[in-house]
Amino acid sequence: SLSDRLSATFKNLRGKGRLSEADVDATVREIRRALLDADVAVPVVREFTAKVRERALGAEVNAALNPAQQIVKIVNEELVEILGGQTRRIRLAKNPPTVIMLAGLQGAGKTTLAGKLSKWLKGQGHSPLLVAADLQRPNAVKQLQVNGERAGVPVFAPHPGVSSEFEAATGDPVAVAQAGLAEARSKLHDVVIVDTAGRLGVDAELMQQAANIRAAISPDEVLFVIDAMIGQDAVATAQAFDQGVNFTGIVLSKLDGDARGGAALSVATVTGKPVMFASTGEALDDFEVFHPDRMASRILDMGDVLTLIEQAQQAWDKDEAARMAKKFADQEDFTLDDFLAQMNQIRNMGSMKKMLMMMPGAAGMRQQLEQFDEREIDRVEAIVRSMTPHERVAPKIINGSRRARIARGSGVHVSEVNGLLERFGQAQKMMKKMAAGGGMPGVPGMTG
Ligand code: GDP
Ligand code: MG
Repeated sequence: SLSDRLSATFKNLRGKGRLSEADVDATVREIRRALLDADVAVPVVREFTAKVRERALGAEVNAALNPAQQIVKIVNEELVEILGGQTRRIRLAKNPPTVIMLAGLQGAGKTTLAGKLSKWLKGQGHSPLLVAADLQRPNAVKQLQVNGERAGVPVFAPHPGVSSEFEAATGDPVAVAQAGLAEARSKLHDVVIVDTAGRLGVDAELMQQAANIRAAISPDEVLFVIDAMIGQDAVATAQAFDQGVNFTGIVLSKLDGDARGGAALSVATVTGKPVMFASTGEALDDFEVFHPDRMASRILDMGDVLTLIEQAQQAWDKDEAARMAKKFADQEDFTLDDFLAQMNQIRNMGSMKKMLMMMPGAAGMRQQLEQFDEREIDRVEAIVRSMTPHERVAPKIINGSRRARIARGSGVHVSEVNGLLERFGQAQKMMKKMAAGGGMPGVPGMTG
């Protein structure tokens, strides 16, 4: 997986604070492979990685992240942006009913989605009407009726004998769609979902039919449903539908399968349209509002790593990081106050321990992490607070009698003061090394 490969890259990059061209290229290569593995279309991968490379090379050095993490963060941000940024909600019509039309290839999951979407909308207090405008396949209407029944949502279908309007509509999907809309108005449904026909491949006749339905009912949303397993064909299919029906949003179906969802990125990139929903199974409840950030992680197959990076960065107090960076640059001495400040940074990170445990490459630290105890920070704090300001910046002067005084003041045994000073000495050495290499401050106090 990308995580495994990147943790190898992390190893190579450890201790470096700057993004060199070689670092960027090595990491971007792994990203490219991950995207291709996720079935993102080749031209999309090319365009995407070029953008990431450019941004990574221009990126400012971030004290909380190593270079590989920093590039992954950029990749994640770009992916999220392309996938629509924030989750895009359905645009409701000012004058109901809101009309939602579904389009896509046969088997993409439109009719299934119609049921899911209607159930979801009903759950939100809407009163949807399903309209069966797929008259291509003999059982398409029946399938929508079954879904509607399960969802508890009425279905408007061209059943002879139900009304004269129906009779007139039979056979003509455009007329059925229009009659469905009229039915919704008269029965005060506030949302109409129009299911349409699809073919196995894109064809002109199908597209014309869909375009005619669109023109006849002026939908507020046209959702293009695409099977996540479609892979490299996603681009051509999406372009054809975008030209044909100018859809407003994308629904990714069959995300419960093995597909890593590269199609989402391909389609969103070539059309510039947001992905709005995901279908994740055959049951009516297997339906989600699409979250660009989760999809980005899935495409990269990064598991929790991106979340970790995000959390690490948020937790890291920016001023503190800047102060540390300056200290490194100035080659100033690392003091006990700094040591304490860092300990408190770790405390602020809260779930830092858990986070670090999940990081790729953390395996080597696992034992130390397991031994790490937050109460230890309390003891360190008490001890350092019992020192004079001068002792904190010049710990060399802390002789035996000072140690005894500090121990009494902080209510610990002298051996604990000794232990702290020893670990501080190690941390100080580490900081000096980091200063030379310009890397992220480590986790002092955990090496003892
Ligand atoms: P349509 O031709 O676009 O209307 O597609 P359908 O809604 O009829 O779906 C085609 C097939 O895919 C059906 O067997 C559905 O049960 C199945 N299907 C639809 N959505 C999903 C999904 O999200 N996950 C899975 N596993 N199957 C799905
Ligand atoms: Mg269908």
